[in-house]
Amino acid sequence: MVNSVDLNIGTMCNNNCRFCVVDHSRNPTHDCFEDIEKELEAFREKGVESVAFLGGEATIRRDIIEMISLAKKLGYAKIRIVSNGRMYCYPDFLEKIIKAGVNRFSVSIHAHNASLGDYLSRSKGSFTQTTTGIKNICKMGFSLDTNTVINKLNYKHLPEIVLFLNNLGVNNMHFSVINPMGNAMTNFDEMVPTLTEISPYIKKSLKICDKNNIYLTIDSLPFCILPECNRYKSELYDILTHVSFSKGNERDRFYWQERKKNKLKTKPKKCCSCRYFGVCEGIWKGYAKKFGFKEILPINGVEIHNLDQMKRIQGQGLKDI
Ligand code: SF4
Repeated sequence: MVNSVDLNIGTMCNNNCRFCVVDHSRNPTHDCFEDIEKELEAFREKGVESVAFLGGEATIRRDIIEMISLAKKLGYAKIRIVSNGRMYCYPDFLEKIIKAGVNRFSVSIHAHNASLGDYLSRSKGSFTQTTTGIKNICKMGFSLDTNTVINKLNYKHLPEIVLFLNNLGVNNMHFSVINPMGNAMTNFDEMVPTLTEISPYIKKSLKICDKNNIYLTIDSLPFCILPECNRYKSELYDILTHVSFSKGNERDRFYWQERKKNKLKTKPKKCCSCRYFGVCEGIWKGYAKKFGFKEILPINGVEIHNLDQMKRIQGQGLKDI
């Protein structure tokens, strides 16, 4: 049974990040409450116990407390908000959503200082609000994980970002290789570094994490890039997750892992000879379109058939976060 659902509740956001997968020049949306209510009920009936509210920015909806309360009433055990964290700078708001039922926090943060953070988000003051929000979550005794989208302006600062976040009280971090869609595609030249460029900084960051007992995973870096760091690749720890997304007048439902592998990412023919072929998602299509596949170099060896086998080889277990 698939135990979690990512519920996208609209694309409206109080940031307009230069690397966002959403195209902010299109009309932003707030999905209607009744649709979300139906989805919450339907997934709960299937036995799903974990829900994450995603945007856009979920916390700017006026009915977010109502949605969280409904999830709690329906019996979801884990209720997560994926957010840019700006609204958490208001302790009253944070207290309200915790009281309503939120017990997991995922915060997106992409810089280690205000000038870079605000430039990336195109929203003055957003970095200070996000960092205050993170501090408030920690102060209230909740743990959180962060997501940092690796882009052309922050990749050389990844080690500093790790240290900065750790100082704020964060021990659980994710780096995501930028997906050139939406704003990120529009701003491709300014935002998208090559996998080769980012690799040494990822490696340096992982060393810092190992030393300081910080849990860091890397999302969407194929197994042939930095293969010595494969045990940190997030695909190993992905749990099959439903996604519910508004599509016109209906909701589109799919599994995130399948959507990534079959629609959003791609692999060249030469991958057939790679030992990771069966478990690898490949690279983002938008990246391949612009940069091609020259960095992709198949790795010889005994074929790996599934992620469980890969996890055993890497000696890592799943972490419940
Ligand atoms: S299958 Fe292709 S993209 Fe994936 S690790 Fe192997 S060579 Fe790299």
